[in-house]
Amino acid sequence: MDRELYRKYIYGARRLVIKIGSAVLTSDRGLEKALIYDLCRQTAFLLEQGCQVVIVSSGAVAAGMSKMPDRGYGRSVPEKQALAAIGQGLLMQVYEEAFSKYGFNVAQVLLTRDGLVHRRRYVNAKNTIKTLMGWRVVPVINENDTVATEELQFTDNDALSVLVVNLAEADLLVCLSDIDGLYDCDPRRSHDAQKIRIVREIDDEILSMAGSSPGRAGRGGMGSKLRAARMVTSFGVPMVIAGGKQPNIIRSLFEGTADCTLFLPPERKRIFGRKPWIAYALERKGTVRIDNGAVSALLEGGKSLLPAGIVGVSGDFEQGDCIVCVDSSGNEVALGLSNYSAEDLKKISGCHSSQICSRIGKDSAKDEVIHRDNMVTLS
Ligand code: GLU
Repeated sequence: MDRELYRKYIYGARRLVIKIGSAVLTSDRGLEKALIYDLCRQTAFLLEQGCQVVIVSSGAVAAGMSKMPDRGYGRSVPEKQALAAIGQGLLMQVYEEAFSKYGFNVAQVLLTRDGLVHRRRYVNAKNTIKTLMGWRVVPVINENDTVATEELQFTDNDALSVLVVNLAEADLLVCLSDIDGLYDCDPRRSHDAQKIRIVREIDDEILSMAGSSPGRAGRGGMGSKLRAARMVTSFGVPMVIAGGKQPNIIRSLFEGTADCTLFLPPERKRIFGRKPWIAYALERKGTVRIDNGAVSALLEGGKSLLPAGIVGVSGDFEQGDCIVCVDSSGNEVALGLSNYSAEDLKKISGCHSSQICSRIGKDSAKDEVIHRDNMVTLS
């Protein structure tokens, strides 16, 4: 059964994002060149089979540290950014050498969250990545740590890879980590820990299996991988967590012999166009609580959100910002672009669309708070 699912979701992937964590790529000595060469060799095999591959690579900060041994793991944000600036070139140098040995070119792509908030820039990034893939060049993507600000940072490269899956319109996300999958308890602390090989739904029980501590060298941990898995699977893309240091790991994934964790998407279609941008790239600036009638109108009726269904507004947002809709128990139901600021929305909550203009003192106004075309449902 597991093997069949592995074959369907992994072997069948034609365009994939491989995210490689710092703990895989680096050790106390710096970049693990032999290991990176080996991962590139295996990736080249996939490219030769006709797959398109984007790599999301961490390791810049850790590589920078090996050049600046007295500085420790940069404590302040500027120190970490400085270490990333030192390490990023070293990292690319190894990818460049390794891929050219196997006959492929690489391209460095550095992204920031706030850069992608602007729709045109998001589309430009997407077009660049698609062009590179079309040329059979391997984009190697990392966060542009130098300009990332704490508030607008991708919390880690697990979050960045979710966005990259959508920029590349990939059909599989592979996270290569120092842990070879999800365990029911922390395998570093308990010898009885059991690996979960297939995850069909990321519920509270699954979430409770993630320890709180990040990995050895990077910023993410199992918690951030589960958040990433929840996002990508909710839009129809499977995700794998596998051990990046295991010999021949990428090939064995595609040969169906790897021992890993596969997160399955619910059976539903991919979303394309503006919606992934709304769901992944934008910062969520506020929350509206909606009644049960509005929940079913959104989820079952495929309708826009109207003011009548809103029972509470929180956050400080402007017209055009991304907001989340939650039900009466606080579960996230949908998100999308608000046609109203928080201030105006408070005035029109619960009212009929015909009352909007008089409540906000305008001659004309939109009936919908979030139009269906600007909305992504979440459950
Ligand atoms: N951008 C960071 C680096 O290259 C990695 C962030 C993370 O660990 O997820 O070092």
